[in-house]
Amino acid sequence: MSRLDSHLEAALARIERAGQRRTLRPTALLPGGLVERGGRRLHDFSSNDYLGLARHPLLVERAGEWATAQGSGSGASRLVTGTSAEQLALEARIAAFKHCEAALVFASGWQANATVIPALLAAIPGAAVFTDRLIHASMHAGIAMAGVRQHRFRHNDLDHLEALLADKGAQAPARLILTESVFSMDGDRADIARLATIAERHDAALFVDEAHATGVLGPQGRGLSALVPGRVDLVMGTFSKALGGFGAYVAGSRVLIDYLVNAASGFVFTTAPPPAVLGAIDAALDLVPGMDAERAHLAALGERLRAGLARLGLDHGASSTQIVPALIGPEDAAMALSARLEDAGFLASAIRPPTVPPGTSRLRLALRAGHSPDDVDGLLAVIEANR
Ligand SMILES: *Cc1c(COP(=O)(O)O)cnc(C)c1O
Repeated sequence: MSRLDSHLEAALARIERAGQRRTLRPTALLPGGLVERGGRRLHDFSSNDYLGLARHPLLVERAGEWATAQGSGSGASRLVTGTSAEQLALEARIAAFKHCEAALVFASGWQANATVIPALLAAIPGAAVFTDRLIHASMHAGIAMAGVRQHRFRHNDLDHLEALLADKGAQAPARLILTESVFSMDGDRADIARLATIAERHDAALFVDEAHATGVLGPQGRGLSALVPGRVDLVMGTFSKALGGFGAYVAGSRVLIDYLVNAASGFVFTTAPPPAVLGAIDAALDLVPGMDAERAHLAALGERLRAGLARLGLDHGASSTQIVPALIGPEDAAMALSARLEDAGFLASAIRPPTVPPGTSRLRLALRAGHSPDDVDGLLAVIEANR
């Protein structure tokens, strides 16, 4: 019994009373759009392994090769002895993939957003920060760490952004706009071309989180920022979703990366990623540009799922990607439907506050390239039978 426990038990009881207590359930990701949980195989509509790379033999093999050749750990932070020649070569590949001058690998997307944002804001005191209302928790963590007040614009409402830029940004020494290219809980896209134009008009820097677009959208899976080369100041994305591995990247100008090497605490004060993680990224970069067939398949599955939900009278919001929400509304209804689907052999996690706004609890349906049209039809049938 620790001296903390009585406080923590009380805090947990408050979470429990709010109906928001979460627990961990062992689950194994399998090929073919499946997972195994509690001894049962389920059709998986909840993972972010969009391209099926997390179980791809080439990634597993390359991870093993890099570990065999270079060891299981990297030994120190990058600035001490943790930078391998292989990692520098990998970062050059990432920069080329993103059509940027330079790139830097981080241990995770959370760590990148939470520590890059305060580093940037430390270099531009007084900068006004403009954020889409639905940006990821990791960006909020970064803004909070910087101690800066953010001006939030209504989700994807770029007229609102422009009004805020004119009202709150004009007097500031600099302006920074933060958004995602594909929103993680809604599966809709930001209009990156228009954002770039607005940023240019207001002399603002543009920061785009491509966690869910990297590998899936844009030419050869390079993300939506690749549609507007050179016009996004900082792009970040993860290797943990469509790229089937772990870690994250930040890409942009050489000066940006040189600065982050010196100033991002989540880079400076942490150990370099292990060789196995870097090997898997290297293999994913071999495969992703050539996966147009998988990307087209995901797009077709998305259309099929949205059409099916609409037939059932379920709102899928503005989704246009491999992430398709089925909006339910009340938390308990979303949780109960998710549980019934699991009984019927389909994993479709309910997402509820505080991850999404109150009253918008949903099934967040995520498609995997291993799904067939029949899997989607099967999911729709069990939703129809259980709602
Ligand atoms: C998942 C996610 C992150 C965090 O990335 P990790 O590598 O999983 O830490 C950041 N931003 C968005 C939008 C995400 O969906």
